Amino acid sequence: MPKKQVKNAFYFYMKELEPQLKREGRVFPHGMADIVPIAHPRWKILPEKEKERFEKISKEYKAKMRGAEGDKYRQDNTRTLLSERRDEYADLQKKRTKERNSVKSQWPTGKLLASEKFYLLNIQTLCKTDDGDYLPCEIGAIEYSIKSGITKTLHRFIEPGRIPTGYRYECKSKSEDTHQIPIERFEKSDANYRGFWIQLENFVNPNGEKPEYPPFYCMGSDVEELEYSLNWVHDKACLGYANRLKRVYNLEGLVQDLFGHIGHSVSETQVIDLMTAHTWDFEPKTRCEFHEELECKFCSLGFVNRYAYAISDSVCPLFGVQITPKHLPIREEGSVSCVVLPPSSMKIDRNQEARMPSRRPQNDNRPQQQQQTFQPNTEYKMPKAQKRKADGNQQLEQGKQLIDDDNNGSESSQSSSPIRDETPIIPRKKKNEGGPDEDVG
Ligand SMILES: [Zn+2]
Repeated sequence: MPKKQVKNAFYFYMKELEPQLKREGRVFPHGMADIVPIAHPRWKILPEKEKERFEKISKEYKAKMRGAEGDKYRQDNTRTLLSERRDEYADLQKKRTKERNSVKSQWPTGKLLASEKFYLLNIQTLCKTDDGDYLPCEIGAIEYSIKSGITKTLHRFIEPGRIPTGYRYECKSKSEDTHQIPIERFEKSDANYRGFWIQLENFVNPNGEKPEYPPFYCMGSDVEELEYSLNWVHDKACLGYANRLKRVYNLEGLVQDLFGHIGHSVSETQVIDLMTAHTWDFEPKTRCEFHEELECKFCSLGFVNRYAYAISDSVCPLFGVQITPKHLPIREEGSVSCVVLPPSSMKIDRNQEARMPSRRPQNDNRPQQQQQTFQPNTEYKMPKAQKRKADGNQQLEQGKQLIDDDNNGSESSQSSSPIRDETPIIPRKKKNEGGPDEDVG
């Protein structure tokens, strides 16, 4: 590849000289390279004022190109070069890929992975200061495996300490809008940071038996907050040794890799949709007592439990794992008794499809083609407007309707909605005895 021409003052001088030289009958088969030997001696004796003129042209050109190249030299409002910010993003992606690979490299093959334990963590904070400090106030963690579901939980309200000057209003607003944890003098808050830290270490690595402390997983958007908060608690604990719980990894990546491990592929966006579905937001007995009483979904324990439910709901069937009450909450008799998976964009093989219970009513004589629009190995793209509509309540309603349809048997279980058409339903408890033979729970 030819070397890229540097567009300095001399270059613009040559460009100006070129037509004149051509008029003199000279030819330049190698382009500008042929002009250099002629132009250079002339440039050396060019008056300073003339040189300055070309310097100016060159500068203007470079300034223009900076604009045209977009963001290379542009700064954001924090005076950070946009180009460098992009690098930060790339670095982060690189870091996450590395983390994922290091985790995957230690995984057993095939379905043996179902026994692997993962630690999911969520921390609620009062606010983030302009200096990037967080004030943690609630911590929830669970131990989870695909095979056994949630096997351990840990929950604590943390004393966030003194609120920095000027942040009282922000803390109060955030509390009111989200977790509703009192920002001061909360009687449930624990200031025994050392005790809690030791408990947390033992939670992931009982008696320090494992050579390495496993990572915590949280949503990518929370990683920074959790890393900070863990360091914060560790500092307060004054243990005299380094933080062993430094590793906070991206949950989206983990779920993608769980799918990938068993030969299925999901995008990060699809995983985020799965993890943030509202299906279990207000499920009883999935939050801490405080948030349960307030019927508030912004509970650290609630968050990690819901992530586990979403993983169980989507991943367990792929691993052939039977869903138990440790995987998904038990619902009361007579309540809405189904879990609706998001429109299935996951690649599902023919065998699995065959195992899926058919919702086709017995007396439905319509051609099969109209019945099954589900296409394995095709990416399902949910229209945006529909995606907004497809919140938990909507899904539950649709699920309920579907079960009703099935129970009636006389009505079509099909509708024009792609959600209903393509959404596999796993009822965990029969709505009433003698219902359809779909119960897998
Ligand atoms: Zn809570």
